[in-house]
Amino acid sequence: MNQTSSYYLDLMGIQRWKSRETLSSHWSLPGDSVLPNNLPLDGFSIDQLDWDDLRSKVAECTACDLCKTRKQTVFGVGSLQAKLMIVGEAPGFYEDAQGEPFVGKAGQLLNAMLQAIGLKREEVYIANVLKCRPPNNRDPAPEEVVKCTPFLKRQVALLKPKLIIALGRHAAHFLLDTHESLSKLRNKMYAYATTEVPLIVSYHPAYLLRNPIDKKHAYQDWQKVIELLQ
Ligand code: SF4
Repeated sequence: MNQTSSYYLDLMGIQRWKSRETLSSHWSLPGDSVLPNNLPLDGFSIDQLDWDDLRSKVAECTACDLCKTRKQTVFGVGSLQAKLMIVGEAPGFYEDAQGEPFVGKAGQLLNAMLQAIGLKREEVYIANVLKCRPPNNRDPAPEEVVKCTPFLKRQVALLKPKLIIALGRHAAHFLLDTHESLSKLRNKMYAYATTEVPLIVSYHPAYLLRNPIDKKHAYQDWQKVIELLQ
């Protein structure tokens, strides 16, 4: 582990320790996935849109009631050549105010986790399942997800990432069409929807801020990210 990684692990409040087993022994192969991956596609004809047109389409979207309470849409941010795509749930207060996903304290923790494995925020692509903030940060409603996920699906198709990591229970549930607990979804590999893009699941940084004891498990997930990207 280099000095930079150590610095960011300290910043994240993660104690450095060594597992007695190798990580790979905990991970399932894509063929082991038993979960369906059928994201909804109906309702939008966006399959031909490029990045600019897709961003405009999102910015003007009024497909669900979240358009009435948002300050602005939160499209996504990062490198359009990114190998890693990070998917969260929905914008919160700060994201809604700034128009960028994963800002505020949760965003800082995400940045620290990326730095700990040698990645910069600018090198990855970050998006949410929903592009508008649910009022009072409530859970996304199913109909909002149905109407919004075609945007995310098109982002994945345009980006063609080598790996997707779903952060948090809600993102994992929407992307994998399941209601399994996060603990059961971690440590396995899935394929995104009908594509062959590998997808793994980890904790949302906001959860880790409330439950720092799980940071060490999250760090294992992020080490797996690097392993898979290589
Ligand atoms: Fe449109 Fe998605 Fe915003 Fe709803 S959440 S208004 S579907 S962009």
